[in-house]
Amino acid sequence: MTTTLPLTRDQLLEPVHRLPRERFAHLPTPLEEAPRLREALGPDAPRIFIKREDQTGLAFGGNKVRHLEFRLADIRQRGATAMTIMNPAVSNHARLHAALAAKFGLSAHILKIPSDQDAIVNGNLLLARMLGAEVIEPSSADPDVLHAEYRALKERLEGEGHVVYDTAEDPYSTIAGAFGFLIGAVEMLEQFERLQIKPDRIFLVYGASAAGLVLAGKLLGEKYRVHAVNIGDHHDPYDYVLDFAMRTSELLGYGIEITRDDFDASAEYGSPGYAVPGDATIEAISLAARTEALIVDPVYTGKSLAALIGEIRKGKIGPDENVVFIHTGGTPNPFSYSEHLLP
Ligand SMILES: *Cc1c(COP(=O)(O)O)cnc(C)c1O
Repeated sequence: MTTTLPLTRDQLLEPVHRLPRERFAHLPTPLEEAPRLREALGPDAPRIFIKREDQTGLAFGGNKVRHLEFRLADIRQRGATAMTIMNPAVSNHARLHAALAAKFGLSAHILKIPSDQDAIVNGNLLLARMLGAEVIEPSSADPDVLHAEYRALKERLEGEGHVVYDTAEDPYSTIAGAFGFLIGAVEMLEQFERLQIKPDRIFLVYGASAAGLVLAGKLLGEKYRVHAVNIGDHHDPYDYVLDFAMRTSELLGYGIEITRDDFDASAEYGSPGYAVPGDATIEAISLAARTEALIVDPVYTGKSLAALIGEIRKGKIGPDENVVFIHTGGTPNPFSYSEHLLP
């Protein structure tokens, strides 16, 4: 298909609205300005707005609740009764799938990838247990062992008569994340229109949500530039987002190419590594809490906020710009990191 750009918002959303979706997210999420955070960043800091995807409503919320609306419809269409998940203790994905299972009468089974945050049952892991998920300790952290035990888990469930939905590997499940942020992009643009300004830059953790925002911006001819932040895992920050964006463009029939020139990405703010907060992350968490009573987390949003702060301090963002920080959630995670967060 050849696409004449820009699309109208209705044209953009038409294929999204054709996808099966069950609505339970609290939408629209608020868009709030953060004047005290701006002030703390000095006279050259831009206006900063926070899009509160941490307020989507399901068991502590997060960006994934938008995604789960599409996933649940898919899970139902396939007649699945059990979901399998392979994630570490700090995983919001695992907690939110456990919540989905509890609310909609499915079962959730988490093979827990060992990590440093396992010692106390707190944060997301505590919530997953409270929500009734089965949490399985693997016998080793070796990836081969993990995958073998994950396969064994699925076989066991099938043997018990379940139809299993594999959230870790199912291609539709992983891409559903981008759909919700095509809707989220339009929602955000409408909120900015009411303020009679336009967003210039958008900072968030890289992934499917970032891909949805990049794709929507290009299709709508919007000038905003997305900055996707690697949070210390192994993916290339550009390739990871591009893959989601391209697959979404194809699946929904938009027929456009997304390239590296269409957005910014960075890996430096992810250090020292996944689920390990560095000084910049701890500083961002503390600053957000003390200036805006905004709780960001040591695994995801503390790093994306550190990126925004870091780019402002480098002078990469002008004082006349309007910047959006997408708060993608992760709010149970600080409870697992008290020893990092206390001075
Ligand atoms: C999972 C997660 C992300 C990334 O999600 P995508 O669906 O890949 O966009 C970002 N932030 C938080 C807090 C998350 O839990």
